[in-house]
Amino acid sequence: MRVGFIGYGNMADALACGFVSANMIKFTDLTMCNKSNVERREAFAKRGGVVAPDAVSVAKSSDVVFLAVKPPYIKSVLEEVYGGCDADELKPKVFVSVAAGVTLDVMEGVWTSKNATPPPMVRVMPNTPCLVGAAASGLCVGSTCSDDDRNKALALMSAVGVCKVIMESQMSALTGVSGSGPAYIFILIEAMADGGVRAGLPRDVALQLAAQTFYGAAKMVLETGEHPGVLKDKVCSPGGTTITAVHELEKAGVRQAMMNAVVAAAARGDELA
Ligand code: NAP
Repeated sequence: MRVGFIGYGNMADALACGFVSANMIKFTDLTMCNKSNVERREAFAKRGGVVAPDAVSVAKSSDVVFLAVKPPYIKSVLEEVYGGCDADELKPKVFVSVAAGVTLDVMEGVWTSKNATPPPMVRVMPNTPCLVGAAASGLCVGSTCSDDDRNKALALMSAVGVCKVIMESQMSALTGVSGSGPAYIFILIEAMADGGVRAGLPRDVALQLAAQTFYGAAKMVLETGEHPGVLKDKVCSPGGTTITAVHELEKAGVRQAMMNAVVAAAARGDELA
């Protein structure tokens, strides 16, 4: 399987590196094009990847084509592909967009507006932990996408973490939780480490302990299957340090702030769609 990237910025690089380190694909089976960033092209070629001159060349030479440009450019790169490739050439390929807020209808519209049948399309919302094989992603499929097509995208995304198949109407909600979510957690890790420094720990120790605590707690939720409320209760002894801290978090409205953050990101995703 050859995988191509139309647009090769932060997200495309995170995905490409993730696919390679998961042994899903060799770097030499990757093709990319970007707009103007020469350093990115040189770094990609140095690792053995193929640098293509444009979107059409990427589409022609790849089985799975990731669309990894910023959302406003998705339609124009698909117009380029439509103009440069014939329908039969595109049929066996799968186009996978990672652009926030660009609907399948908009992508397929490049073909349907000209009374042509769109190629198989998948819309994915990944997150940057795909770089370390721990993504939380969701995908939904277009009208011409077969189970085989979907499974190609699912296999790639599952190689770099967890990927859920969802309905397109749930995409903004997923964006609010996992697409934007790493930023919320980075803030919380930083704040927890700051607390540790305030309480007397060296910065590097506090940061490592804070990050490992998030990692360990998340692993427990995923591996034990226990409700996080139950796990929380188990570590709160009467009159102890933990329940005292939990009281402070509740006073500061941390649950409400997190729920509001997710809902606000989802609403913003709807606005951008
Ligand atoms: P980015 O770093 O700015 O990369 C965008 C890429 O698109 C660059 O390589 C740019 O080339 C290229 N490009 C722009 N116009 C082009 C064209 N006409 N033809 C070919 N390439 C073109 O952006 P990003 O953060 O990776 O985001 C990419 C997509 O991922 C977005 O749609 C975003 O919604 C989605 N996403 C990102 C995240 C995240 O955490 N970053 C999370 C979920 C989804 P140059 O570098 O040469 O300008």
